[in-house]
Amino acid sequence: MSDAGRIVIVGAGLAGDTAAATLREIGYGGSVAMIGDEPHRPYDRPPLSKGALLSAEAAANVFFRPESWYETNNIDLRLGDAVARITPAGHFITLRSGADLSYDKLLIATGARPRRLGILEPLGSRVFYLRTLEDSVALRAALTPSARVIVVGAGVIGLEIAASAATNSCEVAVLELAGRVMARSVSPTVSRFAEEYHRGRGVRILCGVQISRAYLEGGHAIIELADGQRLQADVVVAGVGAEPVTEIARNAGLVVDDGIVVDRYTRTSDPDIHAAGDVTRFESIRRECLTRTEHWRHAIDQAIVAARVMAGQEESYREKPWVWSDQYELNIQITGECSGETEIIRGSTAAASFVAFQLRGGRLVGAIAVNQPRLKKPIADLVAAEIVADPTILADSATDLKKLAAALPK
Ligand code: FAD
Repeated sequence: MSDAGRIVIVGAGLAGDTAAATLREIGYGGSVAMIGDEPHRPYDRPPLSKGALLSAEAAANVFFRPESWYETNNIDLRLGDAVARITPAGHFITLRSGADLSYDKLLIATGARPRRLGILEPLGSRVFYLRTLEDSVALRAALTPSARVIVVGAGVIGLEIAASAATNSCEVAVLELAGRVMARSVSPTVSRFAEEYHRGRGVRILCGVQISRAYLEGGHAIIELADGQRLQADVVVAGVGAEPVTEIARNAGLVVDDGIVVDRYTRTSDPDIHAAGDVTRFESIRRECLTRTEHWRHAIDQAIVAARVMAGQEESYREKPWVWSDQYELNIQITGECSGETEIIRGSTAAASFVAFQLRGGRLVGAIAVNQPRLKKPIADLVAAEIVADPTILADSATDLKKLAAALPK
């Protein structure tokens, strides 16, 4: 593609913003337009369930870049307007406000939206979902000391919300359909550890429960469970996953299958349209299958590849599965597979300072590290190399993991 080209980015979130910045960093001289339907310039979502629920100052500091950056870097940032339609045959998009914009390459980075629970609808404004800055600001206002809060869903975001609410002195209960917390993200040992930690902070954790009815009574939210329990709340927060925002892609005739399907070069079924971030179902080189993931690192890395390929460089995407969560003073880092055939614990769960190594066929395929900030990189390198691991060496806290990682073949 020549520098005289025109790239349009749909969605001003993490993937969109990363792609725009990458284009300028690699010296792309064509025009770049980025359309965002939110009123804000691009901002970071992870703080929304953590610091931003605890302080207004943290909520004010979520933006990736100063406003002036977009003008200085000649990014035509259009906020508060949505892309209503893509016309691939004509290489143009149509904005909700009516204008058409032509493109040579288009990047769809429309992210995901929270999955809504129909059973909670009768609770009206007592129910909160968390995706946007507005959602986070509204939830923080509701998490007043002594407020009775029910969090539906004990995934990573649900537990972060529970931790923030408990820190704000709310009375918190977490309801989870699965038999354990964070079941999709960590091993059973780490689930047990997290449950105990939350209980130690006064949070009630109910796993294996199902909501049978939700309604308002005397201004309070009432949630009835299938086992007959009845809970009362002032605030109900649902954290039950997200679904990709694919409508404009589907209407444009692109292949969509629980996410916009892209190849390892981030191309959709139309070679001039790319997609990146939470919205994609991508070719996982590691797992040799199509997969979808909603992680910060993935959105950045895939968007960098998309920008480079759109600008004419040769690049392909290989995901590095890594995700983190902050709950109270716990920092949890998850690398690779979260649950192997064998688990080796290094350190102490009682002291909230350990690594749960995951082994499959004698190889290290994943690790969950709790409060081990200095070991993040060596652990990631050892997992990426899938070393044949000696369990006694891994379990020994005296083993120098940095040295072990440094000895890996380059
Ligand atoms: P998004 O950030 O959702 O951005 C997409 C943007 O496109 C949105 O602004 C959307 O409104 C806009 N858009 C949609 N349709 C249109 C349209 N038609 N026209 C114009 N604009 C449109 N990940 C981690 O790894 N660790 C964490 O601790 C963590 N914490 C999180 C906490 C919360 C509360 C949330 C919500 C997510 C968290 N994540 C975390 C996930 C991470 O934030 C996402 O993976 C990341 O934001 C994905 O970026 P994205 O650009 O693909 O999507």
